[in-house]
Amino acid sequence: MPSPIAHIAVGYAIYRICRSRPLQETPLGMDGSIRSLAAIVGLSLLPDLDAIPGLLLGDLDSFHNNLTHSIVAGVVAALAIGGIVWLKNRTSFVRWFNLTLISYQLHILMDFFTRGRGVMLFWPFTEERFEPAIKLFYGVQRSRGWLTMDHVWMLFNELLFAGALLLILYLFPRVNNYLRRLEADRDWGLGIRD
Ligand SMILES: [Zn+2]
Repeated sequence: MPSPIAHIAVGYAIYRICRSRPLQETPLGMDGSIRSLAAIVGLSLLPDLDAIPGLLLGDLDSFHNNLTHSIVAGVVAALAIGGIVWLKNRTSFVRWFNLTLISYQLHILMDFFTRGRGVMLFWPFTEERFEPAIKLFYGVQRSRGWLTMDHVWMLFNELLFAGALLLILYLFPRVNNYLRRLEADRDWGLGIRD
């Protein structure tokens, strides 16, 4: 699995993309508060809560990255979070269902593309672990001990990923605005006005 660095970076990206959307006009919009940011980052880390009993009982492998890392678990979590928000506010079920589903499934997708033992994508239909031929993340290689170069590579890999993501988030709206301005200038030159 990747460390929390990569998962937090993706949570932040979801927050940045969704906060710019008007709250009432889209089932994915959210306000730009610190509370919303904390909620999305928390949801992006949610599947790894299974590490807590593993750490407490000293048996991480038996608890962590098992049934919680499946598509079905993501749907159940989204229903639960959407339901809790609805019970509290009598509104926003669809929004928080969608936000949880996206955050949760992206977490599983990232773990899927990480060096390791694969993920139980299709639990409870099968307990088989799946992994792609090409991996994107070096992952936390804890079985090799804590004082190894593996952690340096992991850090380098995930900081590079987070940096690239932040750069895309910074550049995308600017490139988009620039292209729109170019298009408007061209329309103006052609005498097309609206
Ligand atoms: Zn995970």
